[in-house]
Amino acid sequence: MKRLVGISNRTAAGGPKAGGLAVALWDALVQRKGLWFGWSGEVVDKDRVRRGVELFDEEGVEFALTDLTEAEHEGYYLGYANRSLWPVLHYRVDLANFDEDEYACYREVNRRFAKLIYSRLDEDDLVWVHDYHLFPLPQDLRDLGWRGRTGFFLHIPFPPPEIFKSIPDHRALTQGLCACDVIGFQTVSDRDNFVKYCVSELGAKQNGAEEISVNNRSITIKAYPIGIDAEEFKRLAEEEEGRQAASRIEPFLGERRALILGVDRMDYSKGIPNRFQAVGKLLDNEPGLHGRIAYTQIAPPSRTKVEEYKELRGELDTLAGRINGDYGDLDWIPIRYLARSYPREQLAGLYRLARVALVTPLHDGMNLVAKEFAAAQDPEDPGVLILSQFAGAAEQLKHGALIVNPHDISAMADAMREALNMALPERKKRYEALARMVFGQDIAWWREAFMADLDPNGEPAEVVS
Ligand code: UDP
Repeated sequence: MKRLVGISNRTAAGGPKAGGLAVALWDALVQRKGLWFGWSGEVVDKDRVRRGVELFDEEGVEFALTDLTEAEHEGYYLGYANRSLWPVLHYRVDLANFDEDEYACYREVNRRFAKLIYSRLDEDDLVWVHDYHLFPLPQDLRDLGWRGRTGFFLHIPFPPPEIFKSIPDHRALTQGLCACDVIGFQTVSDRDNFVKYCVSELGAKQNGAEEISVNNRSITIKAYPIGIDAEEFKRLAEEEEGRQAASRIEPFLGERRALILGVDRMDYSKGIPNRFQAVGKLLDNEPGLHGRIAYTQIAPPSRTKVEEYKELRGELDTLAGRINGDYGDLDWIPIRYLARSYPREQLAGLYRLARVALVTPLHDGMNLVAKEFAAAQDPEDPGVLILSQFAGAAEQLKHGALIVNPHDISAMADAMREALNMALPERKKRYEALARMVFGQDIAWWREAFMADLDPNGEPAEVVS
């Protein structure tokens, strides 16, 4: 079996091998005695930076990690990746900031990573690059002489060409990516946007639905919707730590209150302000629900050094305060907004307790929370998933979830009412549709689907449990 070399901005070194990418890549690397290259997470000042890599082994997987300098962290990571690419790929050109120096730094870091990796590659290796931090890296490896099979998976959305083209250096980014043999997207719609872009901007030829040729290279371009370890979430939801978390919230629910749950990184792509407004609207429309619902929003702050994220924090603080001030009472506050993170063991118990999950991003690559909620339900008495049509997960979960437009506040309020009133047979029917996708197309399925295309002549791997 060929060795796999995984390349991603962050790795799972030293930490729990938990969460989508970490689990999937870890298992593939264990199977193939692989190498995982990435940023160490350390930011050091210029004089102290180790320009090489720190090498170590964890359970047979080799890690090769490099530090970033403060300037690289600012320009490549916070700057170009998260202030230019992230907003545009989430359809928010209005929030994007394009800075030539940051782009130059992003290019330089990709080249530096490529050099560090290339010196460790054997000609039979398979290379799998992850996400928007590393668009140019496949071509940078080719420029150094790398000829082997190379794949890329984009974890976030790929917008229509008209939007992507607002990035001043869009052509250089996609040319870099097109040095791959396989490029994977979360949804068919992301894939179609990319193919349309390549045909119109790079003169690519389309050879059937899942292949293009560009610059004399045939590239497999497919949707591989990322999954979760559904069995694990189901198990966690029934375990003690999950039950304890649920019992901490139960006094607040009393006997009659229904828990409506939101769990999102505090990011403008998640549509949290719209959701708060929808709760306000629901309470306007349905006075009978006053005191009867308990909406809890878990929102761990992220990228707190980026201005737009600071503004979002202020907006949520104000909005939650206003809605609670307007609708709350001596013995009830409608919105419990918790700006902190909870371990997955606890989240699983909260998912199971919730009557309704509100997953309403304005745009999202996949949204794992939607799948985790589904996996954690009690099949005999399941809760209802309200899901944005703009979450990647909607392509797979549209038959089980109540699909909403997150810009339509009234429709979200109506969906909450419908979910709260839904009879058990319909809840079960919808749960079964969700479970079929979430358990059937889980994280092992995703990994094997991608690896089968990256290594078409390889023997299928045994599933690691
Ligand atoms: N998560 C967590 N603790 C929290 C909030 C979220 O462990 O307090 C996890 C959640 O279980 C999920 C991930 O963070 O696995 C979020 O993934 P998703 O695809 O929903 O969104 P992303 O943050 O990647 O945009």
